Amino acid sequence: MSAGDTAGEGLANPRSGAGDDAEAPRRRARPLPWQHRLVADMLARRAGWAHALLLTGPAGIGKRALAEALAVALLCESPQGDGSACGECPGCRYAAAGQHPDLRIVEPIDVDDEGVAKPVESIVVDRIRALIGWVQVTSHRGGAKVAVIAPAERMNAAAANALLKTLEEPPPGTFLILVSHQPGRLPATIASRCQRIAAPRPTAAEAAAWLAGQGVADPGRALAQAAGAPLAALGLAGDEYQAERSAWIAALARPAALSAVTLGARIDALPRESRKDGLAALIGWLSGWCSDLARVRCGAAPLQNRDLRAELAALAGSVAPIALFRYHRSLMEARARLGHPLQPRLVAEALLIDYRDLFGR
Ligand SMILES: [Zn+2]
Repeated sequence: MSAGDTAGEGLANPRSGAGDDAEAPRRRARPLPWQHRLVADMLARRAGWAHALLLTGPAGIGKRALAEALAVALLCESPQGDGSACGECPGCRYAAAGQHPDLRIVEPIDVDDEGVAKPVESIVVDRIRALIGWVQVTSHRGGAKVAVIAPAERMNAAAANALLKTLEEPPPGTFLILVSHQPGRLPATIASRCQRIAAPRPTAAEAAAWLAGQGVADPGRALAQAAGAPLAALGLAGDEYQAERSAWIAALARPAALSAVTLGARIDALPRESRKDGLAALIGWLSGWCSDLARVRCGAAPLQNRDLRAELAALAGSVAPIALFRYHRSLMEARARLGHPLQPRLVAEALLIDYRDLFGR
C-alpha cells in the first residue's frame, strides 16, 4: 500500500545477492515510451559512454526501467541497427528471464535461507564486496557486464566507500548504472565519478496513455495521487489500495467523528513488516488532504482529492491557515523520521489527534 521511495521503479528483484536458485523475475527490455528518444541518442553514441552512469529524477518516473533497458541493450548479442536490444538472442532471453550471468542488480532487499525476499534499510558493504568480486570475473558470455545499483543512495557509508575504486576504474567492458531519486544523499565522491543522466519525465498525456495501456481505468485520478509519476501511479491504481485510501480519506473528511485509536488499529492490523509502509501511506494521504484543504480555502481546485471538493470545501473554512501550515510541516518531519525505529501505530495516532484538533473540537 505504500507509495514510498521506490514505488513502481521497475521490477522487484528478490534475487540479487541471493542463492542462484532463487526464483528470478522477468526483466524489461524495452524503454518506456517517454524514454525512447534518450535511449536512441545514448545508444547511437555508445562508444563514448562513461563506464559509470548515474540516472536521476523523481521517484516513479521509470528510472529503474530505463536502467534495465540500457543494461539489456548492452548485453544483447545481436543489437538492431539503432543499437537497441533484439529481444531474440540468447543474451536478450537470459536477461528477460532474469538469469543473465553478466547482469547483476543490487538493491536493498535481503533473501533469507528459504528464498523469501524482504526489503531492508540499507545496501550494506558485504553486498558491494560481493559485487566487486563479481565484477572481477571474466564475462560469462564474452560481452559486456552490467551492474545496476538501485536506489544507489541506500548504500551505507561503508558500502559507498567500498565501491569507489571499482567505480573509478571498472574492468574493460563493465558498466555500472546507479539509479537515484535523491542524488543529493550520495557521497560527492560517488556522484563525481559517474556521468549523470536525467531520466526523462513523461508529459501528462504520455503518462495517462501509458497507464491506460496498463489497464488503469482512471489514469487521471491515479496520476493526481502520484504527483504525475506514472509508475508510482500504477502502484496506486489497484482496487485494494484505492479501497484503503478511500476509507482513510473518509475518516479525514469527518474530523469530529474521527477516532485515532480505531484508525491506529488499522495500522496494527497490517503484517508487522508492512506497518511502516502503512504509516508512510497515511502521511502521504494526510499531506495531500491538507494541501488540498489549503488550496480549496484559497478558492483553488484540489489536486490529489479532486473527487472530494465538496467535502474539502465544508472543512476548509473551519481551519486556521497557520495551524494547517504548522501541521503540514509536522507531517514532513514525521516523514523524515520514517527511516528511524518507531512505533507506527503510536505515530499515526498522534498525527490523527493533532489533525482532529486542527478543527477546534
Ligand atoms: Zn538480443
